[in-house]
Amino acid sequence: MTSLTKLTLKAALDGLADKSFSSEELTKAHVEAVAAARPLNAFVLETPEKAIEMAKASDARRAKGEAGVLDGAPLGIKDLFCTEGVRSTACSNILGNFVPTYESTVTANLWRDGAVMLGKLNLDEFAMGSSNETSAFGPVINPWRSEGSNAKLTPGGSSGGSAASVAADLCLGATATDTGGSIRQPAAFTGTVGIKPTYGRCSRWGVVAFASSLDQAGPIAKTVEDAAILLKSMSGHDAKDSTSLDIEVPDFPSFVGKSVKGLRVGIPKEYRVDGMPAEIEKLWEQGIAWLKEAGCEIVEVSLPHTKYALPAYYIVAPAEASSNLARYDGMRFGLREEGANLTETYENTRAAGFGPEVKRRILIGTYVLSAGYYDAYYLKALKVRRRIADDFDQAFEKVDALLTPTAPSAAFGLGENADDPVAMYLNDIFTVTVNLAGLPGMSIPAGVDVNGLPLGLQLIGKALDEGTLFSLGGAIEKAADFKAKPAKWW
Ligand code: GLN
Repeated sequence: MTSLTKLTLKAALDGLADKSFSSEELTKAHVEAVAAARPLNAFVLETPEKAIEMAKASDARRAKGEAGVLDGAPLGIKDLFCTEGVRSTACSNILGNFVPTYESTVTANLWRDGAVMLGKLNLDEFAMGSSNETSAFGPVINPWRSEGSNAKLTPGGSSGGSAASVAADLCLGATATDTGGSIRQPAAFTGTVGIKPTYGRCSRWGVVAFASSLDQAGPIAKTVEDAAILLKSMSGHDAKDSTSLDIEVPDFPSFVGKSVKGLRVGIPKEYRVDGMPAEIEKLWEQGIAWLKEAGCEIVEVSLPHTKYALPAYYIVAPAEASSNLARYDGMRFGLREEGANLTETYENTRAAGFGPEVKRRILIGTYVLSAGYYDAYYLKALKVRRRIADDFDQAFEKVDALLTPTAPSAAFGLGENADDPVAMYLNDIFTVTVNLAGLPGMSIPAGVDVNGLPLGLQLIGKALDEGTLFSLGGAIEKAADFKAKPAKWW
C-alpha cells in the first residue's frame, strides 16, 4: 500500500469520500511506513493500535454519513501537544513519562473533525532549537541528503519530527508550533509547506509553553491546500486560552487557487543580509519574478529595525521560558530527584531533567529579568519588539504581503552548529520578526540548492490575513512546481 502514503491530504480525503479505500487501509499503510522509517527518529512514540482503532471508528462514521472534514486522515502530532492518556514529553527528560489527563484544544479540534493519530513526533527539547538536536530522544535525521553524500542532515527545528515525517510520507500532515520559526524553517529544510498563523488563531491550551507571547500552533503539510485544510480545523476561539481570538475562522482552503492579480507584495530591503548565499538571493529573485508573472505588483519596503529582531527575540523568549519552566520542580510532573530537603530536591530534579540548551535559556532568562538588568535587557527588548511591529504596520500600509527567504541556508549537517549557539540562533534571522509582531508567516518549497536540497520562500501577512498568504502561497507553489522528493534510504 505504498501508493496510499504518497497521496496529499486532499487526495486522500477525496479517496475516502468516494470509497476508493477505507481509513483502515489508509492508516495501515501509514502505520507501516512509520515503523519502516525508524532510522529517521521522527516519531518518539508510535500509537499504531490507537490509530487503527480511530480509523475503524472513522470508517463506521463515514458509513453512517457522519464523516467530518478530516475524517479518516492519519496525522502526526508534535510531542509538545498534550494528548489525553498518551505520553507527552516535550522531548525533555524532566517530563519523563508524563501522561496528560487532558487533550490540547488544537488536537481535540482535529479529532472532532475525524483525524486519526499515528503517534507523537520528535522536537527540540521544549521547542528550543533550530536543528532538533536538543531533543532528549536524539536528533531527527532529514530524509533529504545532499547529492552524492550519505552525510546526515538536520530537518531543522524545533518541529523536526513534524517536517521529516511529512517529507518522508509517514503521515498526511502534522501539527507543529512556532515561537521563532519552528514551523517555517523545518518546512523549508524538508520541501514541505508550513504556516504559523496570527497569534491567537490557535489555542495554546494544552500545548507545553515555551514563550507564551510568541508561541503559536500551525500545520506542516505536503501542499498549500493541505495546510489550509489543517489550519482551518486547528483554529478557533477557546475560552481556556485568554489570548485566543474570539473571531470567525475563514474558509482557508477557498483562498488557494484564487487570483493574486493586483496584490502588492513588499520586498523588505533589510532582509538582504550580509553573507547571504547567492542561491538564496537567486531563489528570492525567482519568487519575485513568479509573483510578477502572476500579476502582483512588487514594491520595495523598509523594515528598519530588522537587525535588532534576533537579539530582542533571544531576550524575550528566554525570559518567558525561564518563567514558564519554573513549574518543573519535581513535585507536579515527571522526573523527581530526591535531595536532603525541598530546595535540594528542586535543584537535583532540574539539574538532571533539563538539557544544556534549556539550562542556557533559563540562565539567560533569569539574568535579563533580574533586578539589576531588567531595564537594560528585558524592557529594552520589549521596546524593540514594539518598533518591529510598527515597522510592519507601516509596510502594510503600502503592501498586502511580504516575500522573503525562509532561512539563510539549506539544511545543514548534524553537529555542524552544535557548539556555537550564536551560529545556531542566526538560522532564525528571517523568521523571528514575525513572532515578535504576532503576524502570520508561511514557508513554501520553491527550489533546490546546488546539492539538490530544498529551499523555501516565506510570505508574511497582515494580522488575521492568512487568506492572502494561502492565495499567494498557492501561486508560488504553482509556479515553482516543486515535485522533488527525498530518495528513500531509510
Ligand atoms: N529556533 C528558535 C529557538 O530556538 C525558535 C524555536 C521555536 O520556534 N520553537 O528559540
